[in-house]
Amino acid sequence: MGEWTPGGRILSLPPSVEASKTTVREWRNEEGNGWALDELSTILTPNETEAIKAMKLAESEQEDLLSWPHTRNGVFSVRSAYHLEVQRKNGNVGPSVGDHNLDVWRKTWKALTPSRVKVTMWRALKNGLPTMNVLARRGLNVDCICPRCGEAPETVTHMALQCKEARLLWKLSPLRLDSQVANCSLMEWGEEFGKKCKMKGAWELAMMVVWQSWRARNLWVFERKTVDPVVQCAKMLGILGEYEAACTRDQPPSEPPTQVGLGMLVRDHVGDALMSAGESGCENLTVKHAEAKAVMFGLRYAFDAGCRALEVETDCQALATLLQAKSREISATQVLVNDILNLAKQFTYCSFGFNRRSCNSVAHSMAQAALHFEETLVWMEDCPPVVTPLVLADKILCE
Ligand SMILES: [Zn+2]
Repeated sequence: MGEWTPGGRILSLPPSVEASKTTVREWRNEEGNGWALDELSTILTPNETEAIKAMKLAESEQEDLLSWPHTRNGVFSVRSAYHLEVQRKNGNVGPSVGDHNLDVWRKTWKALTPSRVKVTMWRALKNGLPTMNVLARRGLNVDCICPRCGEAPETVTHMALQCKEARLLWKLSPLRLDSQVANCSLMEWGEEFGKKCKMKGAWELAMMVVWQSWRARNLWVFERKTVDPVVQCAKMLGILGEYEAACTRDQPPSEPPTQVGLGMLVRDHVGDALMSAGESGCENLTVKHAEAKAVMFGLRYAFDAGCRALEVETDCQALATLLQAKSREISATQVLVNDILNLAKQFTYCSFGFNRRSCNSVAHSMAQAALHFEETLVWMEDCPPVVTPLVLADKILCE
C-alpha cells in the first residue's frame, strides 16, 4: 500500500502496521467480499478509510495489479503525471481516482437538485461553460469582455461570482453572501466555501445560484432579455423546494449527470428472448469498462436465471480481445475481465465474441432504455416493449 488512494493522501503507514501486509488481498475482510475496514480504520484517518471503502474490490481472488490509469499501457510515466497536474490546475479533471477536488465533485453529484442544475455546475467547475473568455481562448473571434457588465473578461469565475449581476443574486439568496473573490477557479472557491459554510443545503443553494446566473446571462446574450434578480431568487427557491419535497428521504439521489445504461438479452437458438435485463449506473467510465460491466451484469443474471451455456457478444472489439484472452492490459478493466472469466468457468459452455453494433441493436437499445430505470429490471422469456420489434427483426434475419 502506498500513495494510491484518491488524492494520494496516504504517504506512509505508521510503524504499527505489520510489514507483511503489503497487498490488497491481505486487507480483505474474513468473508472475502470487501475491505477489512475495522482493521484499516485503526491505522488510517476516517477520510482515508472512506476513500479506500469507496474503491471496489475484485470479486474473485486475483493477483494484485499495479496500474496507472492515465497512460494507455497502464504503466506510470512522468510525462503523464505532468499532464495530469497541468489539467488539474486548469480544473479540467473529472471525478477520477486521484482527484484532489473529490469532495466538491461528490457534493455536486449527490446534491438534491434537478439534473440540469448539476450539469451546469459540473461544466462550470470544469471550466467548460462557453463564456466569452473561454470562447476567445479557443480561438473564436469574439470579444472576451463580459456582455452583461462590460467590466472584465467573462471567465467562468466572473460569470458565476464576480459579475455585479451574479453578486446581486448571491446577496439576495438565503446565503447572503458577498461573492466578490480574487481570481481563483470556481473549483478552488467551491473548496473554500465547503470548509467555511456548514449550513444545511448550502451547496445546493450555491449550485442553484450558479445555474440561475448562467441562465440569466444566456437570456441576455441570446434574447436581450433581463430577469429581475428577486424573481430569479424566488424561482430558484421554488424549484429547490419542490425537488426536495419530491425526493423522499430513503430514495437515492437521482439523475447524476453521467449515466451509464447496461443492457443484456439472452436469446435461444431460434432467436426468441429468454431473458433480458437493464440497469443504470452513474459512473464515469470508458466505453470498454462500461461494456465490461455490462457483460458482467449480463453473465451474472443469466447464471442466476439458470442459463449454463452461453455465447456472449459485445460490440466493443477491444473488450472482446481481452475476454478471448488474446491480450491483457494493466488496468481496472482487466481486473473486471478476470472476474468475468472466473464467473464464466461456472458455465458448462461460455464463449465471447465481437458483434458490430448494428447487429447488436437489441442490447444497445436495452442499454439506452436502461438509462431511465431507477432499479435493475429483469424480464423473463420476454423483453421490454421498446425493444420487442428489434428482437423480432433479428429473429427474421437469423432465419
Ligand atoms: Zn460581468
